[in-house]
Amino acid sequence: MALTKEDIITLPNPHLRQRSKRVGHISSKIKSLAEDMINATLNWDESRDHEVGVALAAIQIDQPYRIIVVRNDLEDKKDRSFMTFINPEITKKEGVMTEDFEGCLSVPDIYGKVKRYSKIRIKALDLDGRQFRMTAEGFLARIFQHEIDHLNGIVFIDHIRDIPDAFYRLSEDGKLKSMDYEAVKQDSVLWE
Ligand SMILES: [Zn+2]
Repeated sequence: MALTKEDIITLPNPHLRQRSKRVGHISSKIKSLAEDMINATLNWDESRDHEVGVALAAIQIDQPYRIIVVRNDLEDKKDRSFMTFINPEITKKEGVMTEDFEGCLSVPDIYGKVKRYSKIRIKALDLDGRQFRMTAEGFLARIFQHEIDHLNGIVFIDHIRDIPDAFYRLSEDGKLKSMDYEAVKQDSVLWE
């Protein structure tokens, strides 16, 4: 059976703080894991009116492997194709630090203003085990930094804990509303 959004783990699940393992051999199990990740993301995407599920790390479906999937079209919900990156690594961080909104399928309804490099270079393996390199800028660069953080047990809110005005909550009408910092600190999910 295809995985669904119910298979996505969320904070405060401690597995989200684990470091994921490198993939050695790209077995059929690893290939079906990538399929599972895509299905779970698409099912989540279908349940959300105001958001696009753009990427997922394997640990978010509770599988501690260094695999991420990223949507080919980051804005069009109708395009359901993804690219898979195995053992992805950032080889160079460039550009300027840019602050922008960031959310996570494992931190429902919470957004944060997070500083990231505006340009990065990465290397990874594809599903056939071939190594490739890529340069990413802007939102795509942000996505890679966010997802590779997941492989190291880091969630985006870890970057903004000390910034009082960085937390936002998505309201039902799709607007981001600034969260009161005291409320953030008292939230057992955000501040465990
Ligand atoms: Zn995430």
